Amino acid sequence: MPSAATLLRDVYGFDAFRPGQEEIVHTVASGCNTLAIMPTGGGKSLCFQLPALLRDGVTVVISPLIALMRDQVRGLRAAGVEAGALTSGNTEEETAEVWQALEAGRLKLLYMAPERLASGATRGMLRRIGVSLIAVDEAHCVSQWGHDFRPDYLAIGELRRALGVPLAAFTATADAETQAEIVDKLFDGQPPQTFLHGFDRPNIHLAFSAKDAPRQQIMGFAAARKGQSGIVYCGTRAKTESLAQALSQAGHNACAYHGGMEPQARRRVEHRFNTEDGLIVVATVAFGMGVDKPDIRWVAHADLPKSIEAYYQEIGRAGRDGAPAETLTLFGPDDIRLRRSQIDEGLAPPARRMADHGRLNALLGLAEALTCRRVTLLGYFGETAEPCGNCDLCETPPETFDGTEAVQKALSAILRTEERFGAGHLIDILMGNATDKVRARGHDNLPTFGVGRDMDKRGWQGVFRQMLGHDLVRPDPERHGALVMTEAARPILRAETPIHLRREVATRTPRPAARALVSEEDAPLLSALKAKRRALAEAAGVPAYIVFNDRTLIEMAETRPANLDAMARVGGVGATKLERYGTDFLEVINGEAEQLHPKRRKLAGRAAGELYDQLIEAQARLSRGPEGIDKPLSCSASLLARVASQRPRDSDALARLIGEKYAERFGPAFLDVLRMAD
Ligand code: ADP
Ligand code: ZN
Repeated sequence: MPSAATLLRDVYGFDAFRPGQEEIVHTVASGCNTLAIMPTGGGKSLCFQLPALLRDGVTVVISPLIALMRDQVRGLRAAGVEAGALTSGNTEEETAEVWQALEAGRLKLLYMAPERLASGATRGMLRRIGVSLIAVDEAHCVSQWGHDFRPDYLAIGELRRALGVPLAAFTATADAETQAEIVDKLFDGQPPQTFLHGFDRPNIHLAFSAKDAPRQQIMGFAAARKGQSGIVYCGTRAKTESLAQALSQAGHNACAYHGGMEPQARRRVEHRFNTEDGLIVVATVAFGMGVDKPDIRWVAHADLPKSIEAYYQEIGRAGRDGAPAETLTLFGPDDIRLRRSQIDEGLAPPARRMADHGRLNALLGLAEALTCRRVTLLGYFGETAEPCGNCDLCETPPETFDGTEAVQKALSAILRTEERFGAGHLIDILMGNATDKVRARGHDNLPTFGVGRDMDKRGWQGVFRQMLGHDLVRPDPERHGALVMTEAARPILRAETPIHLRREVATRTPRPAARALVSEEDAPLLSALKAKRRALAEAAGVPAYIVFNDRTLIEMAETRPANLDAMARVGGVGATKLERYGTDFLEVINGEAEQLHPKRRKLAGRAAGELYDQLIEAQARLSRGPEGIDKPLSCSASLLARVASQRPRDSDALARLIGEKYAERFGPAFLDVLRMAD
């Protein structure tokens, strides 16, 4: 039996485990009951797929979504693993095939929808086929308090007892109540080996922006990422449609998705998103549960999510392949009002409503944070971290000021008007604007009238928004959203605690360009590799990432493997995929360097042309340095063409032409080539 590390390399083509995976794989493979809490994109599936391969018999995988199951089965098959699914979405042929593989004892992983468990026939069948492990994906679906509750999940505990086999449960939901419920329902209250695994997703760039011409903010963000797959989350169905239309008009490949659409239309969007490169889906939160695409490059929130957990889950859909991904979350006072009233008007019991306000507060705290967002976000999940350097606040620290006095003035305006007005009217009072409404209520006679003339309207709007964000005031749903002071504001009013606020500046244009995934030099090759991938995926009728994910293509473009041996060392290229696709991609990589380049074509038939080829050859020998262990490096075609035409005489002239970095690696070899041609 090969070791876990060998399987990791041969089947998946991965060099190393991600943090936490190895221990979980060993624990599950050794037959212990296990509960693993890992963030989305942390690599959960591998934690039950590898043990399934390491153990005798069949592993049953229970998963709530047919689309996800089919996707995993497809991925496993592409990697050469015998896996199948029994779901209501199967064709008769598919089901027959699964049965055949089971009878022949070939099947290693059997994916099943929880609905099937209820029938006694299923249990009998599972006993007959020699199940040796149960894996439960999205285990939080057993939680009756949760939003994803699936009654059928309650039958899993009984299945475990009936089969007497170990069970491994996986979820991305970290809170203690959910964990306790999982232990109770799936493990009969006997605590399993539990792994709580880090929540950081360092490749995801975090950014928030106060709303200020929000439509333009989103359009600008998308424009800078044209051609990359992304999701825009909106608060309402109507907005998904209008924004999708605006994006299409701006030349993007975009479509809307929401719960009000026909199931068929929704599936069509999901399918397009999975298979097309660079589609933008503008969606409500209904979009996501069934989305397993690892190469989503960006997620934008056109409206504030409802809680910090929802935020984390939604941005977490980006960059699951580990390559750089970006996010932008917009928020404004209207969002806060809307989210508060949704909680207050909901039917949840009071304790639950209070907890929901708390989760919203945590998100608002993150939105109004003054230092590293990742530190704040991870802190909420109980983790400590260093400033990340990959969020908007690390990159451009905000200008802050002591806002204690401004907040006191605002609170005083609220209290003197008996907590019956919204921010607009209060700002008029503070700034001394004697509007009709102000005069009609006699508010121009208040001592607070005009005490805030030292700040402009934008400044005061920022103060009020931040007060909402720090939960110092709340909109009162019974009084049309009039602002009411909370207990949290009292120490500031009494000057016992100071408060620092962010100074409002005109919103910066959103991050201009997404950082390129590869250097300029490798970009054309990456596009060529993507085109090849698309062609192969279309021919096979599978999503592009099933062939290879972005990260693998990026590595190919950067390391430019010259033969199958080198190709096998690229992350994500397992044995089966190497055999199936290796040559196709090698052709793209090596064809590109040798023949097609226009710079080379221009030299055709001239002495410099031959020189160019020899330079390429010399460069290929040294692409990883004289020992073959250095960082891959190669000159662009235009540099090589220049060397071939100008024929520098000595190392200084060469270094001036191609730069120190390249001269250090290739200088002597290039000069040899040039000397031989003399
Ligand atoms: P989730 O925890 O959300 O279920 P997945 O199992 O879908 O995550 O894994 C997310 C992505 O990470 C997939 O594209 C998978 O191929 C990749 N991945 C998982 N483990 C590793 C690893 N050890 N090395 C490299 N990539 C990995
Ligand atoms: Zn940071």
